[in-house]
Amino acid sequence: MNSFKLTRLWGIDIEINASWLLVFALFSFSLSQHYFPNQVPGLEPSVYWVMGTGTTILIFTSVLLHELAHSLMAIKKGIPIKRITLFIFGGVAQLEREPDQPGVELKIALVGPATSIGLALLCWLVYFSLPEDLAVSYVFGFLATLNFIVGTINLIPAFPLDGGRVLRAGLWHFMKNLLRATRIAVIIGSVFAFMAIGLGFYMIFQLYWIWGLWYIFLGWMLYQSGQASYSQLVFHQTFKGVPVSQVMSPDVHTVSPNLTLDQLVEKFFQYKFGAFPVTEKGRLIGMVTFNQVREVPLQKWPYTEAAQIMTPLRELVVASPKTEAVEVMMKMAAGNTGRVLVVENDRLVGILSRTDMMKLINMHMLLGTEK
Ligand SMILES: [Zn+2]
Repeated sequence: MNSFKLTRLWGIDIEINASWLLVFALFSFSLSQHYFPNQVPGLEPSVYWVMGTGTTILIFTSVLLHELAHSLMAIKKGIPIKRITLFIFGGVAQLEREPDQPGVELKIALVGPATSIGLALLCWLVYFSLPEDLAVSYVFGFLATLNFIVGTINLIPAFPLDGGRVLRAGLWHFMKNLLRATRIAVIIGSVFAFMAIGLGFYMIFQLYWIWGLWYIFLGWMLYQSGQASYSQLVFHQTFKGVPVSQVMSPDVHTVSPNLTLDQLVEKFFQYKFGAFPVTEKGRLIGMVTFNQVREVPLQKWPYTEAAQIMTPLRELVVASPKTEAVEVMMKMAAGNTGRVLVVENDRLVGILSRTDMMKLINMHMLLGTEK
């Protein structure tokens, strides 16, 4: 996603996603062209523009304060924060790791909505103390409502919203099991997500198209992020501190570099693998995939060798058997590859594939032996 850095506060990079610029334009436009002219009629058009853009900047500041509250609490509890990104729905503070105690998670989760509701009360205070006919008091009235909505929506117990994190912290505290607590929180979150999707369809039937699509989109995003954070957690818990050597498959079928492609194709048929490492006298020199073979015309197969089409070693993602498995999985996800060769002193000692690790997690979950 395209994000650019705005500033740096307390060592945290504040970034804005490109999608936010669209929201900025949309908010400024509708506030200055519709909302404020309806609330306080009879002002100069330029005044409405100042009110509209000024309010949008303050909305932005409110969202930022909400995320900063989460971040500063996390830092206080010893969890580093890389960056805060503001995007179409609001913001995300990226914690470098998950809290390791329910009490810590509870505090980090609660401080965000508490800040928003605090801001709402503050804005209402200003709104009621200003003269009613003053244009600026409408700005504060709007900000009060908006912050109140942001605070309360985030308190909905739908993981991974703040309220869902509060719920998980509670379950975690009583059940003493982070994984089970997360599973329940994610299921409850999914119920809310499907309710939002259902409401969206109902609105579409009532011909409120935009709102309907918006709810469907939000519900779907909520469902997806719940599922994603659950599998990420399962993964980290299962493979925490486990080295690659313990989870890799040690038996790797290799091919020699001078194997012709028609011989290679027979190997693919025999083993049904998507790729073979290429070794020469026990040393790894590259990897050849089924797709690379497919790109060569059939008639050239008898006199084309594996070495001519393989990906050379220097372009491969390899891992040492001592590296943490979690780290390698992250590398795989980032590099968009499904498998990593495990190499020690130039010799191929094993292979680690994403599907194998997923199968392993599944086995752990079926046996109930996950941590
Ligand atoms: Zn929050």
